[in-house]
Amino acid sequence: MNFSELGLSKQILEAIAKAKYDSPYPIQVQAIPAILQQKDVFGIAPTGSGKTASYILPILQRLQQKAENKGRMIPILVLVPTRELASQVAEVTENFARFLSRKVKALAVFGGVSINPQMMKIYGTDILVATPGRLLDLLSKNSLNLNQVEVLVVDEADKVLNMGFKEEVDQILERLPKKRQNILFSATSEESVDELTKELLHEPVSISA
Ligand code: AMP
Repeated sequence: MNFSELGLSKQILEAIAKAKYDSPYPIQVQAIPAILQQKDVFGIAPTGSGKTASYILPILQRLQQKAENKGRMIPILVLVPTRELASQVAEVTENFARFLSRKVKALAVFGGVSINPQMMKIYGTDILVATPGRLLDLLSKNSLNLNQVEVLVVDEADKVLNMGFKEEVDQILERLPKKRQNILFSATSEESVDELTKELLHEPVSISA
C-alpha cells in the first residue's frame, strides 16, 4: 500500500515524502480515508503504531481548505492524558506542517507549568493539543473558545480515563458544538473506554493496528 492510494492531496503527499515516511503503517491505511471522509473513528492502537500521523495528516488536509486562523476560536482539539504526549503530537504536526503552503499552528498546553505563556500563545492556533485540566483552566480564563471546534480527537483515551479525567472531559464536551467529527484512539478496549465511545462517537468506523 502507498500513501498516494489513501485520498491525500498532492501537497500532503509531498510533505509526507519530505518527512521521509516511505509507506503507510496499517493503522494509517485504515484511518486516513475514513477521517478524510469526515467519519467518526474508533481506533485501538498503541504507541509506536503510527496513530498520531493517522489522524494528523487528514486533519492537516482539512485545514488546507480553511483560511488561516485569526483568533481564539479553535477548529481542531486533541485531548491527551500527559504533557509528554501533548508535546509529541504538536511536534509530529509541526514536522509535516512546515512543508505546507498554508501556515498551520499547533500548540501543546498542559499543567505543571505557568499558564500565562500558554494563554499568550493561543491566538491563531489551528490544532490545540491539551490535557483536560489545563484546558478547563484556560477556558475559565476565557483564553480560548471551543464553540466552533470541527474535529475532536481523544488520544490514549484509556489513559485519559484511568488518570481520572472523565469529569473534566465531560465538562469540555459541554463546551463543544454538537455537530463535529470525533476521533478516539485507545491502546486498550476496556469498559470505561466503551462507555466514552458510546457517548462520543456517531456510527464510528472501527479500526485497529
Ligand atoms: P506514534 O505511534 O504515532 O507515536 O508513531 C511512532 C513513530 O513512528 C513515530 O516516530 C513516527 O514518526 C513514526 N512513523 C509513523 N508513521 C510512519 C510511517 N508511515 N513511516 C515511517 N515512520 C512512521
